Amino acid sequence: MTTIVPPTTQTLTRLADELRRAIGSENVLTARSDLLVYECDGFVIEKNSPDVVVFPRSTADVVKVVQCCNRADVPFVPRGAGTSLAGGCLPIGGGVMIVLTRLKNILEINYRDRYAVVEPGVVNVHLTNALKGSGYHYAPDPSSQGACTIGGNVATNSGGPHTLKYGVTVNHVLGIEAVLADGSVVQLGGPAEDPLGLDLVGAMVGSEGTLGIVTKVWVKLTRNPQGWRTMLAIFESCDDATQAISEIIGAGIVPAALEMMDQGILVAIEAAFGFGFPLDAQAILLIEVDGLEAGLDQQRDQIVELCKRSNAREVRLAKDEKERLKLWKCRKQAFGAIGRLSPSYCTQDGVVPRTQLPNILRKIIEIGTRYDLKIVNVFHAGDGNIHPILLFDERQPEQVERVLLASNEILEACLASGGSVTGEHGIGVEKIHFMQKMFTPDDLQAMDNLRQAFNPLGKLSPQKMLPTAGGCGMEQKHPGRRAAL
Ligand SMILES: Cc1cc2nc3c(=O)[nH]c(=O)nc-3n(C[C@H](O)[C@H](O)[C@H](O)COP(=O)(O)OP(=O)(O)OC[C@H]3O[C@@H](n4cnc5c(N)ncnc54)[C@H](O)[C@@H]3O)c2cc1C
Repeated sequence: MTTIVPPTTQTLTRLADELRRAIGSENVLTARSDLLVYECDGFVIEKNSPDVVVFPRSTADVVKVVQCCNRADVPFVPRGAGTSLAGGCLPIGGGVMIVLTRLKNILEINYRDRYAVVEPGVVNVHLTNALKGSGYHYAPDPSSQGACTIGGNVATNSGGPHTLKYGVTVNHVLGIEAVLADGSVVQLGGPAEDPLGLDLVGAMVGSEGTLGIVTKVWVKLTRNPQGWRTMLAIFESCDDATQAISEIIGAGIVPAALEMMDQGILVAIEAAFGFGFPLDAQAILLIEVDGLEAGLDQQRDQIVELCKRSNAREVRLAKDEKERLKLWKCRKQAFGAIGRLSPSYCTQDGVVPRTQLPNILRKIIEIGTRYDLKIVNVFHAGDGNIHPILLFDERQPEQVERVLLASNEILEACLASGGSVTGEHGIGVEKIHFMQKMFTPDDLQAMDNLRQAFNPLGKLSPQKMLPTAGGCGMEQKHPGRRAAL
């Protein structure tokens, strides 16, 4: 079991000097005011400043940083854009934060073999933009794609609205170069499909920075579909909307995307973007089918019919590409609109079997009422991946406590419905206590054995994802996490 002992001031001063010599002082931050920016990610409830922040510009720089940290016996944690909603970037016990955003080159685009090689700090949408007009795209499209990095996507095995048809990040990664916890560099997989041996790429994807620091990624390129049909179905109740989802999937249609937004979030999105959403609607579904042109109209008509059978008040069709893109902008920037509703928010990320969506949404409303919290919903409904967003003011400790308790109950309800506590955001520090509820001690031990093989001293991303890593030298606010330690 690894116990993180916070480093002494003397150790840190020496380490910072060594890091400046190793990668250049312009790539090292130590001023308290600078470090504050890195004290949390999108999970704002737990905060802890790193002692040093570094910005490597090459794999060799990452190796040097890791070697310096090991010599000083100081923990280190990788970070991309910091959009994690589970506290994956929290520097537990302080130490060095390795920010990969300056490794931002697209190294190769190979259309004939349908792959691209990118550095980890490439912003997801920048790859999309680089591929524009080529007839190919990179399929994983998290709603945060305007900010999040491919390295962060790999570490969290990100999904997105188009996961329903195209799968999650692991389905689109061919190879990884990573710096391991001892400073050695490995290449797992590469440009070709299905390399021999154990699927270590599969193990690395979704390991939340606990097995290695990703420094290069070979990603698959996907042929663009010939056509799209994008629809907006408007419902008088969440029950009707979720019923329509089951009807569509039950009819054997796999839309490229099937997203739901409830009235609470619609109000904010409409104020932000003025799309013309009906503010009296209780829920809307954003549905997209894609593929060969032949057959798309038929699928669209079938979906319209199924929505109407589930009491849709109206189904609007995006009349052109401009309107389609505007609809997607509303969906993908929905979180940005939340600032109109509250100063802080906590996004949950549970999964339930699709048929359980009506029940879980009712349960969320009940929990919100009981804890006197406003909760709005925007989520990947087709996957059964819910994202209740709990609105609060983080300056009010009593509100924070209610948010944590309510979040816990929502996730417990997902488990009770036969689901899971994360669909795509990962475990981070936020949900670590749920691991013991989802896995047996033997399962957890097996996962820890794998982590030990890559990261034997536990200095890389300590106390993330697996609950077996000992005390941390910082008090954490999360009640479940406290109980787990
Ligand atoms: C508005 C909003 C919408 C979102 N929508 C989605 C969505 O639709 N789908 C989805 O899956 N997620 C979503 N997220 C969550 C988040 O954007 C994703 O998890 C994303 O992949 C994180 O990328 P990042 O670059 O910000 O990584 P960070 O937040 O910086 O890091 C996330 C984790 O990855 C590790 N990490 C980062 N870079 C590396 C690296 N190079 N090597 C090893 N480990 C690394 C970190 O240590 C941390 O554990 C959303 C978040 C926000 C704020």
